[in-house]
Amino acid sequence: MQDDSPPDPETWVFLNGTFMPLREAKVPVLDRGFIFGDGIYEVVPAYAGRPFRWAEHLARLKRSLARIRIANPLSDQAWLELVRALIARHSWRDQFVYLHITRGVAKRDHAFPKDASPTVFAMSSELLPVPAVQREEGVAAVSLDDVRWLQCDIKSISLLGNVLARQAAVDGGAVECIQFRDGVMTEGSSSNIWVVKDETVTGAPLDHRILEGIRVGLIESLCAACGLTFRTSALSRQEVACANELLLSSATKEILPITRLDGHPVGSGRPGPVYARLYQAYQDAIAAA
Ligand code: PMP
Repeated sequence: MQDDSPPDPETWVFLNGTFMPLREAKVPVLDRGFIFGDGIYEVVPAYAGRPFRWAEHLARLKRSLARIRIANPLSDQAWLELVRALIARHSWRDQFVYLHITRGVAKRDHAFPKDASPTVFAMSSELLPVPAVQREEGVAAVSLDDVRWLQCDIKSISLLGNVLARQAAVDGGAVECIQFRDGVMTEGSSSNIWVVKDETVTGAPLDHRILEGIRVGLIESLCAACGLTFRTSALSRQEVACANELLLSSATKEILPITRLDGHPVGSGRPGPVYARLYQAYQDAIAAA
């Protein structure tokens, strides 16, 4: 779990071409990110100074920008250099880099401004291991109706739906939620969800209803390496409730077992053997990167 104390104001961040201490980074109130949530973001884990799955994160960043028609402000090389420079400014072994691009500053009007230039912000935080108790015992989740918009495949900074979903989980004494739209499983508030039945790992279909996590492709290849069947398919509440194991995946939590759903044990109520195999394969992939 991440430390939720405020970041050290001496942390170095990047804003519009300049590295500066966090306390000096200021954005005008008319920035469309502040006014409309008009922007996109990325979260990239970096182990021992090396961004993990960088090509995939950059590709998703560019896809998100294209989907909301913000011209990509940096070249591929400049994005990589920015991420590397930010990591190099911090001594934490493992970090996660947050990249945030908005449509920029303009008079408040919903339509795109003609001449605004994008605001580019980036920061890095320490990537702390998930608490041992969560790895050993798994975490609780609550199921929830998915009431978000229908372009969840864009990694938008407009996260109110996800914020309310996460808070509903916390209010229910859980760490994450599992959302359902029209009775079909979508995703967590900030993670993808995996249903394990026997030797098959199933995730939600990769469409507009979920964000395609960078761990989706990774888990597909880890499944292949572990001799597990990977598939995506529409999953009912019943199929989720009857899983042998439930897993969540995200950049900062990697793969984590969900062992209680709505107060009931999932399968045996303990982290299962498929979790153990995939988690080990994940650590091997980090070591080999
Ligand atoms: N879905 C949502 C809504 C998320 O916020 C995240 C985390 N960014 C994910 C899925 C998992 O994506 P990733 O594996 O790239 O962290």
